[in-house]
Amino acid sequence: MTLIVQEILAKTILSKSKIYPWVINPYTGCQHGCSYCYARFMKRVTGHREPWGEFVDVKINAADLLREEIKKKKRGKVWVSGVCDPYQPLEAKYKLTRQCLEILARNTWPVIIQTRSPLVLRDIDIIRGGRDFEVGFSVTTADDSIRKLFEPGAPPIEERINALDELHKAGIRTYAMIAPVLPGAEGLAELLKGKIDYVLVDRMNYHYADWVYRKYGLEDQHTDDLFERVKQKFASL
Ligand code: SF4
Repeated sequence: MTLIVQEILAKTILSKSKIYPWVINPYTGCQHGCSYCYARFMKRVTGHREPWGEFVDVKINAADLLREEIKKKKRGKVWVSGVCDPYQPLEAKYKLTRQCLEILARNTWPVIIQTRSPLVLRDIDIIRGGRDFEVGFSVTTADDSIRKLFEPGAPPIEERINALDELHKAGIRTYAMIAPVLPGAEGLAELLKGKIDYVLVDRMNYHYADWVYRKYGLEDQHTDDLFERVKQKFASL
């Protein structure tokens, strides 16, 4: 797979969001390339023609913008990130997420991080020092062979669970986001026990997961029953 990386100068970085008051996306595009990803609409918005997962625009001025914008905008919870993974592999080199978190922590803004990558552990020092910082991992199944079909470029489930454990043990508030609920998700309840403060089980992304189910002949496993079973598993913990 080819990856096209462009360094760009963004116009703004702290944007309004419908889910939390603010959102920061240090990158446009995502190397994880999940097949059900709703963020692929960004291709249309930005004019990219490459397949989703094969391009990333790096907003190299993200920290400079944030330093200025934070002075003018009203403090509120910041979602990191909405339409990219803030800890996709390029973050190891560019450290844009890290720089933004440093600024948010220094200014005591609350932050909710959402990722699929244990690279977040690199920033545990900043996360612990922030006021009202929490970290969530998206985990969609306990079965890594299913994960490979739907999230081929994202880290294995075991690495995510271990990272949650480490964060939780470090005294950081943690959560798991299960959306879409994929076959094998029932096993997550046991794996996540004692490692998270709360869980979000959502129907989000079902529509986008549809074609992957068809591609691998898994339609019979794509049921509302699965969604209810997973919810019950967590309710009984
Ligand atoms: S990690 Fe998130 S943003 Fe990236 S491709 Fe997967 S679902 Fe989309």
